[in-house]
Amino acid sequence: MSTPSPITPLHHPLFEQANISVCIKRDDQIHPIISGNKWRKLKGNVELALQQGKKGIVSFGGAYSNHIHALSYACKINGLSSVGIIRGEQHFQENATLSQAKSWGMNLQFVDRATYKLRHDEAFLIQVRDNYPDHLIVPEGGTNDAALTGVGEVMDELETQLEFDTIITPVGSAGTIAGLIKSDKNKHNIVGISVLKGAQYLEDEVKKLIQDDTNQTTNWEILHDFHLGGYAKFSTRDIQHLAQLNKQLGVMFEPIYSGKMLLAFISLVEQGYFSSGERVVLLHTGGLQGINGMLERNILPSSQWPWQLVQ
Ligand SMILES: *Cc1c(COP(=O)(O)O)cnc(C)c1O
Repeated sequence: MSTPSPITPLHHPLFEQANISVCIKRDDQIHPIISGNKWRKLKGNVELALQQGKKGIVSFGGAYSNHIHALSYACKINGLSSVGIIRGEQHFQENATLSQAKSWGMNLQFVDRATYKLRHDEAFLIQVRDNYPDHLIVPEGGTNDAALTGVGEVMDELETQLEFDTIITPVGSAGTIAGLIKSDKNKHNIVGISVLKGAQYLEDEVKKLIQDDTNQTTNWEILHDFHLGGYAKFSTRDIQHLAQLNKQLGVMFEPIYSGKMLLAFISLVEQGYFSSGERVVLLHTGGLQGINGMLERNILPSSQWPWQLVQ
């Protein structure tokens, strides 16, 4: 485990043409197993569980969730038990993500879509609490107050690492961007790339998370035009472009989060979104474990993806 995560420059002819400088904050390198932003988000939650004398943590996720994967390992190394309430059927426990989670001791509970939809419901959460009274309940994606504080440390680290104007992050549940915004206090531009289609609620979600009812924080925006078809969707062309960029830049980005951000960033550079001289930081949020599951499901055909991940 090591923070501050490294920051390295990225070079591409497009960046030179646009006269921008680009660096990448390598949160994917914080920990070999616990995915970048999930490590940031879980750190405070693990501390909270330990402080409160809980036996473990229960949380929610899809069958290939980076959060579930990270949670199982983070709990294991901290002597906590973990429960994953998973959207899907029992057989998913054999997949690349969940078989590892299981091997690290996670108790997997599979629920159908309708039940999973209740995951933010108060009555449902009371039931979960009654089932696991000695566990801390952490929402899907790990997004809560403790998570925001952990993500905020990205900004503290950057402060000591370089001067920059703009930071870009992928957005799923909005916990990560909210943590960046809250910690930044209006000093930089913060741009989020929604990896979800039609997720116009995300702005309100951010405001709720940073408790900014009066719209005092204005230095951020979420772009909604770069989801490439929706969550975990991408075309063959997108994948080929991403694979080519991975080679060119010498950094591995996966297609669901960090890679969508990268493809969005390239489009933005091409569109002239950045001003001459602008200094941009991309936040590599990790997520590389997810590639195994994509290869396994063949939604990422190995013929188009020249790398294999083995953990
Ligand atoms: C979960 C995840 C995100 C999205 O973070 P949110 O805090 O949910 O917005 C981005 N990148 C990776 C790799 C993730 O696993």
